[in-house]
This record gives sequence, structure tokens and C-alpha cells, in this order.
Amino acid sequence: MKQCGVTVWFTGLSGAGKTTIRMAVEQELRSQGYKVEVLDGDIVRQNLTKGLGFSKDDRDENIRRIGFVAHLLTRNDVIVLVSAISPYRTIRDEVRQKIGNFIEVYVNAPLEVCEQRDVKGLYKKARAGEIKQFTGIDDPYEPPISPEVECKTDRETLEDCTAQVLTAMRNFGYLPTNLATRKI
Ligand code: ADP
Repeated sequence: MKQCGVTVWFTGLSGAGKTTIRMAVEQELRSQGYKVEVLDGDIVRQNLTKGLGFSKDDRDENIRRIGFVAHLLTRNDVIVLVSAISPYRTIRDEVRQKIGNFIEVYVNAPLEVCEQRDVKGLYKKARAGEIKQFTGIDDPYEPPISPEVECKTDRETLEDCTAQVLTAMRNFGYLPTNLATRKI
């Protein structure tokens, strides 16, 4: 069966769980034989968008470039998984319009939880003033208004979150209906 291109866009605070859920979704899709490509914010900033900073303009440019590549892949029937904080609603919506086949996943955990996890030690640095313009601390995050999926990672397991994303992909017609759940 021919696979259908779609961009699944994970947005949320640092430490909310974007990468973790994205990796679980990626693993599941690959194990089912799908062609998947990943654009991870941290990695993209080391190459495609190297040199860009964290001002609103630079953040928007970062997202625009990620969106450009995601669009090229999506229209060639690749499943694209993007994990990027992408704090500004307008640019997320701009990218959504351009790509068309788009699922927005709001990876939502309260700032206190993200800060307590402090996966990369960045919140500590931001609180100490060693990093400026850190999302959630001294830079804004604009939550999606009506995302296709919302994962509340402080009260839902990784398995639940992963299943929600895959179910949405199915419900919006980007994956075939699971044989096991298909009504005959
Ligand atoms: P981000 O990519 O958003 O910066 P990460 O995925 O790197 O965040 O880190 C999220 C952390 O939260 C990981 O340590 C992960 O194990 C933990 N975590 C706890 N519950 C969940 C969940 N339900 N979904 C995803 N991550 C979770």
C-alpha cells in the first residue's frame, strides 16, 4: 500500500517530552515499514539553521526552514516527524497552511514539571541567568488553540501519548485503519 505524506509537528516546552514521544512514534512506524524522516530542533540548529539565535525573528526563521523541508518531504509521501519548541503560534499556523497534511501535537507539561525534570540542565542555567531568552523562563510560549493531539505528559504514560498520536494519524486518514480495530 502506498504511504501518505504527513508532517506530525510536536510543539511544547523544553523537557515536555517532544523527543521522547517522537522517538516512540518513529520506532513504531519504522517497525511497520513506513518511510519516516525526522527534523529535531536541536539537530537542525546545528546544520540547516546554524547561526540563528533565539530572537522572535530568528525563531520564526528556524521554523520556516524546518517547515520548508518538511513540506518537500511530505509532498513526496514521507512521514515527517518534527520536534521543536516552536513557541510562536502564527508561524506554526503558517507552516501548517503551507504543508497541508499536518498534525499538531501539543506536548504539554507544566513548567514546574519540565523544570524539575531538567533533562538537559538548561532550566538551571536559565534561572542562573547563564542562558537568556529561554522559553518559559524569560521568553514566551504560545500554546496551540486547537491541536489535533494534546499529550499531558505529567499524567499520561509514554505509551498513552504514543498511542494518541498514532490514533490521530489513523483518524485523519494518514495511516490505514488498524486491521484489528476495523469493523467488518
Ligand atoms: P523535549 O524534547 O520536549 O525537550 P524530552 O523528550 O527530551 O523533552 O524529555 C522529556 C522527559 O520527560 C524525559 O526524561 C521523559 O522520560 C520524561 N517523561 C515522563 N513522562 C513522559 C511522557 N508521558 N511522555 C514523554 N516523556 C515523558
